[in-house]
Amino acid sequence: MNRPLNRRLVWLLIAGCSLFAPGLLSAQIDLQAIQARGLQVTRSPHLTLITDVRDRQDVAEFNDVFEAAVQQWCRYFQVPEDAVKDWHLIGCIIRDPNQTQVFTDAGLFPDDLPPFPAGYQLGSNFWVFLQDGDYYTRHLLIHEGTHAFMEKFLGGYGAPWYSEGMAELLGLHRWQDQQLSMNHQVESSDEVPFWGRVKLIRKAHAVEQGKTLNEVLEMENKSFREVDAYAWAWALCQFLDRHPEYQKRFRKLPAIASLSPAEFNQKFREAWGEDWPDAAQQWLNLVTEMEYGYDVVAATPTPLSGTSTAQGATRFEVAVNRGWQETGILVEPGERIRITAEGLYRVKQDTQAWPCDAGGITIEYYAGRPLGRLIAAIRTPKNDFLKIIDVGRSQEIICDSGGQLLLRINESPAAWADNQGQLKVTVEALSD
Ligand SMILES: [Zn+2]
Repeated sequence: MNRPLNRRLVWLLIAGCSLFAPGLLSAQIDLQAIQARGLQVTRSPHLTLITDVRDRQDVAEFNDVFEAAVQQWCRYFQVPEDAVKDWHLIGCIIRDPNQTQVFTDAGLFPDDLPPFPAGYQLGSNFWVFLQDGDYYTRHLLIHEGTHAFMEKFLGGYGAPWYSEGMAELLGLHRWQDQQLSMNHQVESSDEVPFWGRVKLIRKAHAVEQGKTLNEVLEMENKSFREVDAYAWAWALCQFLDRHPEYQKRFRKLPAIASLSPAEFNQKFREAWGEDWPDAAQQWLNLVTEMEYGYDVVAATPTPLSGTSTAQGATRFEVAVNRGWQETGILVEPGERIRITAEGLYRVKQDTQAWPCDAGGITIEYYAGRPLGRLIAAIRTPKNDFLKIIDVGRSQEIICDSGGQLLLRINESPAAWADNQGQLKVTVEALSD
């Protein structure tokens, strides 16, 4: 969470042995007075960290994380490291959200900070509540640091979805052997204990509360009082940052981060131009099947090239390691078609290969259907959530809407990569 600073807030001015921290707050803090209150202070070139966590000797590791993050912010936002050499933040890690008095007494917790659920950034200062598990505390540290970095070196945060989405995207990390990997592709919830954003999106979709691309773009600052807004903002940033056709455009957005939210969103929409309906549809596909490890690249719809058979049908080679594939066949509501499939493929590779045909494997199910089974959908011009049509080895279908016929196999979008083999599909129109 963050708030653009709209007034000068002088909240720390204690005489004596003081440390000058450059930044909007011109903060001067008295380390001795702070330590006399039992607070622990750890310092590194870019961060003075103050905490009431007393029973741990490893608090300085948070400074190590932060210093590694500074380099990665520079790289991601293309800011020269030289430009950040004098940048310094004062951060507080607070053990208990209901016990902030010692920070207030030390002049470290202004009375007029708004209530915040987990973390808050204001100029060169941030506050983070200690979380269950160090992963999430580090995540918040990087999240708030991302806000501070963007404000200082990009001149702003753009729109709320971009501000919070970037802080979440870069906050996702791996910290192992003192090495930080930010903007980490998370493959499982075990990697990010207590973070839980994927679950929030799945839950919202399950009760038809999934957000469209436009709805995410228009989320206001006040939406971010609820955790699920962070989930939507993160998911959109990750989708755009990973997408083979959108990544370049997305990574140009830091150049317009100083614009107002309305101007930022307008420029964002202009940058997508004619690709907007496609992006909106692919976003809905992601919302429908959100998973840890969602493979944005393989989920990008690809065109199939069909060959005509002597009987007037069309034959396709459907890739078994990709998401929806476009047949180019436009169907009308009420039209009858027959889809038949042949071929053998591997749908999973663990201790052994799992062979499969278009009927799927009935000992494992995904989304209520056998794993690996051939499925279809009709992409309508309205950009709705796709309705799955069960196919299997052979199926006659009466199309309930008009649009383009799509094909793929039934498997989680996080698990396509290890598939291999052939799937030949024939589509024929049936006369009445
Ligand atoms: Zn935030």
